[in-house]
Amino acid sequence: MSRVYNFSAGPSCLPEEVLNACAAEMLDYQGTGQSVMEMSHRSKYYEPIIQDAEAMVRKLMNVPSNYKVLFVQGGGSTQFAMVAQNLGIKNKKAAYIETGVWAKKAAQEAAKLGVEVTTIASSKDKGYSYIPRVEKVEGDYDYVYICYNNTIMGTHYEYIPETGNIPLVADISSCVLSEPLDVSKFGLLFAGAQKNLAPAGVTLVIVREDLIPEASECLPGTPTMSVYKTHADNDSMYNTPPCYTIYVLGKVLHWIEANGGAEGMLKRNKEKADYLYSFLDSSDFFRATTEVGSRSLMNVPFLTKYSNDVTKAAAKVAEEEQTAEQKAALAKEKEINAKFVKEAEAAGFINLKGHRLVGGMRASIYNAMSLEGVKALVEFMKKFAAAN
Ligand SMILES: *Cc1c(COP(=O)(O)O)cnc(C)c1O
Repeated sequence: MSRVYNFSAGPSCLPEEVLNACAAEMLDYQGTGQSVMEMSHRSKYYEPIIQDAEAMVRKLMNVPSNYKVLFVQGGGSTQFAMVAQNLGIKNKKAAYIETGVWAKKAAQEAAKLGVEVTTIASSKDKGYSYIPRVEKVEGDYDYVYICYNNTIMGTHYEYIPETGNIPLVADISSCVLSEPLDVSKFGLLFAGAQKNLAPAGVTLVIVREDLIPEASECLPGTPTMSVYKTHADNDSMYNTPPCYTIYVLGKVLHWIEANGGAEGMLKRNKEKADYLYSFLDSSDFFRATTEVGSRSLMNVPFLTKYSNDVTKAAAKVAEEEQTAEQKAALAKEKEINAKFVKEAEAAGFINLKGHRLVGGMRASIYNAMSLEGVKALVEFMKKFAAAN
């Protein structure tokens, strides 16, 4: 068996120990004669699995007792609407910090539901390459919304905005349990599992109990499944939960615990990210796209020297208006990026193609990626730089 180094932004690599443990129990879960995939979610075998997953979230994230931990479906994208439907109900006003695609999508979804969205800060001026500093938020907003780690842009908050009595909502899909986080500073946190926690299929929601409205208080027409209280009142078992995904999630959480918990993950992730960024910062071939002080430990977009002022200017004009020099530079940039991705894949480093909005390449180095994997990638990059 040979495994690749998988730098996918999501779904992403899982710890090998977890995959092996799942494989060992695939046909016969602990003497039950059945796979977890085949179990009734109401059975005496399954209930301890979901209960343990919740207990592990509480333990590893230090979740205060006045918060509910929910497992729901629909991915991070469904939370964009659920946040508005459940929290944007008093003044129907919310403040959003615009730091890229996911924050923007969340704001659009709220606006669609009739919530008055105010963009209180944005990093659009520099292509979302940094996190704007918002010292203090005041106003009659029902909530303030941030995307704590921007998977596509490769940025991450190094501070938590002060919002006083206004609940702070954060999308932590791509950084959940990559570092310690003070849950008490937030009204609601959510994370699609497929980046750092599990296969796709479950979304973790952590919400302060007093913020969970009655179904009748949610925005008009909110479906039962989109009411947080539905899930809170039924221990995430109102309907069939994504049983197997939650089972894997529990195993990943035990792996995190065995590797030092959130503190241990931060140490591991900092080592990896420092190694990669310091290479990028010292290379005259590659460079990172994000500003120091806003850099994600999880998602690292990078460009080559063939992405330059000429290609940047060319990208801003319509194709028929590009000069011959601009066209040639764009073609070279595209060719080098494609060559990198292709040769990397052949060498066992997969999913390094950058998001089309940033261009270039992106290495997602979630919890499960090893330092060894990052070091091997950097070695490959050095060779590529020398040859091109
Ligand atoms: C991947 C991602 C999403 C979207 O998640 P889905 O589960 O695909 O809906 C939302 N926010 C962030 C920060 C993400 O990384």
